[in-house]
Parts: sequence; structure tokens; C-alpha cells
Amino acid sequence: MPEKEVIKFDQERSLWHIFPEYCKGCGLCKEKCPNQVLIWSDKLGVYGTPTVRPKDEDSCIGCGICQMVCPDCAISVIRKRKKKAV
Ligand code: SF4
Ligand code: SF4
Repeated sequence: MPEKEVIKFDQERSLWHIFPEYCKGCGLCKEKCPNQVLIWSDKLGVYGTPTVRPKDEDSCIGCGICQMVCPDCAISVIRKRKKKAV
């Protein structure tokens, strides 16, 4: 079985991933993001509808809400640890 495509976005506070083959473009993640981070992407999903992507590199706080609400498990968010003050 071929591996699923994953698109990675290295954010300041998270590693944010989308699996376009699972995304149906419902927009729920966009709607529920507390920071209005997500925008429509040129990359198309399973039904030929746009997928989503973060709008920049520092707005995502890594809360994981988009991952939790996605009905199709198309998003994976790994929160980065804060750097220790030196
Ligand atoms: S992890 Fe939180 S802040 Fe980042 S895109 Fe998802 S819902 Fe928005
Ligand atoms: S909630 Fe999931 S299926 Fe819906 S647009 Fe977001 S990533 Fe795609």
C-alpha cells in the first residue's frame, strides 16, 4: 500500500501536518481554531476541494483543537516544548 502524503509546516510553536487524502474540505478546523490560523490551501483534498494550511509561521499556538475537531483525522499537531531560558 502506498504511503499517505503528508504536508508538514514547521511552526514556531508546533509541527503542524495535514494528510490531503483525508481532508474533505469541510472547514471545521478553520472555524474552531482560536487564533484564526488556518486558511484554504491550493492543495486539493480527497474530493477535489481545497485543504487547509496555516497562514504564517507564528500564529499557531499548538493547542491541537483543529486536530481534535477534524472528523477525518486529516490533521496532526505536535506542540513544541518551550525553550529553556538561559
Ligand atoms: S493547533 Fe490550535 S492554534 Fe494551531 S492551527 Fe490548530 S487550532 Fe489553530
Ligand atoms: S476539519 Fe479536517 S476534513 Fe475538515 S477542512 Fe479541516 S482538515 Fe479538512
